[in-house]
Amino acid sequence: MACQETPPPVYNTYEEYPVYEGTDLGLTFTPKKSIFKLWAPPAAEVMLRFYEKGEGGTSTKEIAMKRGDNGVWTTTLKENLEGQYYTFQTLINEKWGEEVPDPYVKAVGVNGKRGQVIDFEKTNPTGWTEDKKPALKNPTDVILYELHVRDLSMHENSGIKNKGKFLGLTETGTKSPDGESTGIDHIKSLGVTHVHLLPSYDYMSIDESKLEENNFNWGYDPQNYNVPEGSYSTNPYDGAVRIKEFKEMVKTLHDNGLSVILDVVYNHTGVTEGSNFNQLLPGYYYRQNSDGSFSNASACGNETASDRPMMRKFIIESVKHWVNEYHLDGFRFDLMGIHDIETMNQISAALHEIDPSIFIYGEGWTGGDSPLPENDRALKKYTHRMKGIAAFSDDIRDGLKGSVFDAPDRGFASGKPYMEESVKFGVVAATQHPQLNYEKVNYSNEPWAAQPSQAISYVSCHDNHTLWDRLINSQPDASEAERIKMDILANTVVLTSQGIPFLHAGVELLRTKDGEENSYKSPDAINKIDWSRKTKYKPVFETYKKLIQLRKNHPAFRMPTTEMIQQHLKFLDFEEGSLLVGYTISGNANGDSWKDILVLFNGNQVDKAVDIPAGEWTMVLRGSEVDEASKIKSANQVKIPASSAMIFYKS
Ligand code: CA
Repeated sequence: MACQETPPPVYNTYEEYPVYEGTDLGLTFTPKKSIFKLWAPPAAEVMLRFYEKGEGGTSTKEIAMKRGDNGVWTTTLKENLEGQYYTFQTLINEKWGEEVPDPYVKAVGVNGKRGQVIDFEKTNPTGWTEDKKPALKNPTDVILYELHVRDLSMHENSGIKNKGKFLGLTETGTKSPDGESTGIDHIKSLGVTHVHLLPSYDYMSIDESKLEENNFNWGYDPQNYNVPEGSYSTNPYDGAVRIKEFKEMVKTLHDNGLSVILDVVYNHTGVTEGSNFNQLLPGYYYRQNSDGSFSNASACGNETASDRPMMRKFIIESVKHWVNEYHLDGFRFDLMGIHDIETMNQISAALHEIDPSIFIYGEGWTGGDSPLPENDRALKKYTHRMKGIAAFSDDIRDGLKGSVFDAPDRGFASGKPYMEESVKFGVVAATQHPQLNYEKVNYSNEPWAAQPSQAISYVSCHDNHTLWDRLINSQPDASEAERIKMDILANTVVLTSQGIPFLHAGVELLRTKDGEENSYKSPDAINKIDWSRKTKYKPVFETYKKLIQLRKNHPAFRMPTTEMIQQHLKFLDFEEGSLLVGYTISGNANGDSWKDILVLFNGNQVDKAVDIPAGEWTMVLRGSEVDEASKIKSANQVKIPASSAMIFYKS
């Protein structure tokens, strides 16, 4: 057995570091004893220090940890340490790092500077052990709603008491001054199935000791991955409070039939040299350029190295912690293309072993070049190589509204011709379909999803302009009524396409950020959802709600396999550049009560008469009018209103 006086082992490369297989890194707590373990193979010494507070003061106890096997340093304390704060510090290459929490820390004090020993049993809200997640039959049944914790409640007209807090998502029965339901009642009535929260783990950009300043940030600057963000809690100083309140939020959402997804940003840390990873073990957790400098595929100063075994292990254990401790139902991986495919597949396998209904998706791109070979990256084009993982379809997004990099650009829904093939590519969820001409799809020249459950259909998200602001930019001369038609057309395509639909919170109220394109640190005034728009644009909200209900009522719009889509979905033959897309779904697809369905999209800003397959069709949608019990029409031709969709069925 090695002891402290033994000189530290010498390693020439990170690949030579021994790997630790155990799942007990960090703190293992019981009221009778606490075991601390830190993996730091090249360290000569490791110090563990205890404090009475999460910041300031002198340490109450200092312990020199002991080196064990596989680079793991250990200390066991046979006493009840509950409530105490702690830090680690390592001596590597004759240099002491800063005192920081370890990467595996699960509770921290204010601003995440020190770990805190807490009893997780005591953080469970009433009924937590009986908490039941909403049932999910197929991944294609998922309807996503992307929300920032703060945005839901910050407006004075939200009627929500706990503004900007996790607890804001535990308040039911809230109403705007006009009497419209707000908060989670609103989300529930809209009909989405999953609430996707922007980063809600502990991030750095908000000073948790100055919450009265009311600063806003999206939170893409991770600090402690396994801990909820302190500024969303009612007391960031007590590590147990944010944990308990996060769980209360999950419990309430589950009780209201809503599943919860967390946006996770393992691809980079908020700071580089100063991160917990680098202070305790310089370099290992990150990729480097050939000159030894940190590579930067995130465009945020660094990129993590998921392909190194102990970083891969860290990510897998972290997502498992969020599932086991917080009952989460899925993850959205930021810049997933920075991670390697093998890691993503191992994450998927580990999570689906716990719960096959966990939904995993990510951004299949990077923010810059990476030393990771292109063929190993979890990119959109390689989605078919990842099992149980979906990617965002920028093809349908920009096909519908125009390139996000060119604000005046239009898409199919805003009247730009020759985007029809990109829309059709979205309709079949980026899968293989015999009628598609892949060479004419905007970004992808081949299918990238093996199954429809691997493609996220969307037209807007937190990034870039809101859909409404985008339409103002790209259609400056259109009337408000015309833009509303375009808005509804865009999300009618999204909500009737195969694959997984995704809505940016507030899009159903024509959300605006006053033209702000990148609101990551804009004030609440720009970011908060204004509930008076629910009164002003009530018919728009009602249309979104009915479109969601239509999708939920009709399994033909959410077929689970590519084969089923190939068998049942046939495109009508419209001329290229006609700004028309149409298709039928025939044969009671996926057990639908409707025998045949006819879907027509007209991107033209004028009405268009089109030939349709003969027969007795019942019209259920025309533009913003959704009525599943509309009159029967017998026709060979219909007129589709400008910038509108029409849907018919035969029973
Ligand atoms: Ca924080």
